Amino acid sequence: MSTYRAPLRDMQFVLRELAGIEDIAKLPGYEDTLDVLDSILEEAASFATGVLDPLNRVADKEGCTWIDGKVTTPKGFKEAYKKFADAGWIGLPVPPEYGGQGLPQTMLGPTLEMWNGSNIGFANGPLLNQGAIEAIELCGSDEQKKRWIPNLVSGKGTGTMGLTEPQAGSDLAQVRSKAVPEGDHYRITGQKIFITFGEHDMAENIIHLVLARVPDAPEGVKGISLFIVPKFVVNENGSLGEANDVVCAGIEHKLGINGNPTCTMSIGESGKGSIGYLVGEANRGLEYMFIMMNAARFSVGVQGLAVADRAYQHSLEYAMERVQGRDVKPGSRAPQAIAAHPDVRRMLMWQKANIEAMRALSYVTAASLDIVHKHPDEKMRKEHKAFVELMIPVVKGWCTENAVDCASTALQVFGGMGYVEETGIAQQYRDVRITTIYEGTTGIQALDLIGRKLIRDMGATATAVITKMQKLAKELVESENADVKAIGDGLNTGIAALAETSQFIGMNAMSDLHKAFACSVPYLKLWGVVAGGWQMGRAAQIAAAKIAANDPESEFYKAKLATSKFYATHVLTQSAWYKRQIVDGSADVMTLTDDQFELDRKMAVTA
Ligand SMILES: Cc1cc2nc3c(=O)[nH]c(=O)nc-3n(C[C@H](O)[C@H](O)[C@H](O)COP(=O)(O)OP(=O)(O)OC[C@H]3O[C@@H](n4cnc5c(N)ncnc54)[C@H](O)[C@@H]3O)c2cc1C
Repeated sequence: MSTYRAPLRDMQFVLRELAGIEDIAKLPGYEDTLDVLDSILEEAASFATGVLDPLNRVADKEGCTWIDGKVTTPKGFKEAYKKFADAGWIGLPVPPEYGGQGLPQTMLGPTLEMWNGSNIGFANGPLLNQGAIEAIELCGSDEQKKRWIPNLVSGKGTGTMGLTEPQAGSDLAQVRSKAVPEGDHYRITGQKIFITFGEHDMAENIIHLVLARVPDAPEGVKGISLFIVPKFVVNENGSLGEANDVVCAGIEHKLGINGNPTCTMSIGESGKGSIGYLVGEANRGLEYMFIMMNAARFSVGVQGLAVADRAYQHSLEYAMERVQGRDVKPGSRAPQAIAAHPDVRRMLMWQKANIEAMRALSYVTAASLDIVHKHPDEKMRKEHKAFVELMIPVVKGWCTENAVDCASTALQVFGGMGYVEETGIAQQYRDVRITTIYEGTTGIQALDLIGRKLIRDMGATATAVITKMQKLAKELVESENADVKAIGDGLNTGIAALAETSQFIGMNAMSDLHKAFACSVPYLKLWGVVAGGWQMGRAAQIAAAKIAANDPESEFYKAKLATSKFYATHVLTQSAWYKRQIVDGSADVMTLTDDQFELDRKMAVTA
């Protein structure tokens, strides 16, 4: 049975040597970061392995139950949430005035990874809570901040994200929930579906952040407003008031993440509407929700990485123990552990290299987020904001798609024992599958990457990032270390593919939008592969220098260099294929007519 281990050494490497946590700790308000860094990582690891991991399997088996609107979470979740809150984990990045620790977002990289690696079903609660806190902190009134945030930090309440309705999934312009003004609040009515932790027994209150339309709101996304809709109204003195009309009408039976309830919420439908408080200005709700979604999208990217790493650890364990077959080299007679077979070794390396690249790219993106929030120099803030906006869909889309692939590879290492539930690897595969869907599917991330990030600024940010990558590749190619040089060559090929396809998409955006968007997902994945290669190139450069200096941790750095080399030859090489798919294949995506597809539907019916 799998037992999660926090990959602290690599986390420390990425934080300190790639994400620049020492520079982040110089930003105003973050000065204490380095003093607490090691203890935070160690305590988080201990919480993840000691409290959350033991509940992971049980939660999958037991799931949540719904009876007459009440939802019971799996055994141990309620107590674990209290411990989680009491230990201060909810408030890690929240400003001290609301009861938080005020630490940088960069610290969310490893901590989120540990919560999700040890128990993604549980970790979804804090993830959405974090988004709710951020939305209120950035867009709410002072009174709302005081009233709601401290309770979300202390664990008295949890936050949800109430966007989806039956007819409004990826397309939030279709939201129909209504908000009618009444004195200092609104009356909300509508139905929300798929709401994670929409109802549960882990905290006394639930604060739903709900999208709805005020009377006479414009059609589409410009007429959506954001409301706080609590399960229980909170009195001015902070005590719980009357129950609001927010009812859980049922929970879903799912493929994975069974530890958390996915709820259908009936809002204000039994009477005159439930009480809701407008956040910020009317009709700007989607803009505000994007603040929450950006944080949540980053976090879901890290979820993917986390579950992939758990699956990798598990498959590594199995590969070292399972004895089957002999070495392909002549003369070998004794059966050996499968980890010794080249193909199994390739599967392990594939996972390890991709996971390390995902970790590096996501923590580096989180560090830029801190610069956006705190750097005194406006030029730096602007530059990093553009980088973060470009990278969020990549971190979300690429890390999650890649994680599904890595978890599938981990399962393959188990052979038949991967396909049965007994070993637990099947759970990782089922659990990780949702990450490419919620918080915007990969298709929607790719739409965002091309439409809002590439085309809107005419490729300026993409070009700036590509230029940075080229600078590094040039340094790598000039290295005297043959492995580093080879990594530089691989990176150069990947960058050239990225530049050419960006140009291709930019050109087609002016003449044929179908063609420009036809391979948007392969383009997003290409960004991930190359940006991951950029970070692995940086890691290789550092590792080579440490090895040359006889660093006492040479074994770690030698492994890092070898893993980076594998990434260059096995992962970065995908860029050539993506380039061909995009440049040569985009025109072939929309060639069939609806009538030609109808032929297949008719055949299916008559068969
Ligand atoms: C377990 C779970 C938990 C969830 N938690 C929450 C939550 O807490 N809060 C919440 O509000 N929602 C939540 N959701 C909803 C989730 O965010 C949506 O399911 C998701 O955004 C996709 O919407 P949809 O299911 O309506 O799919 P659709 O929008 O119908 O999409 C179907 C397919 O079409 C593609 N597609 C749609 N539009 C486009 C387009 N314009 N261009 C290209 N491709 C497109 C999609 O990529 C997808 O492949 C959750 C869902 C699940 C399953």
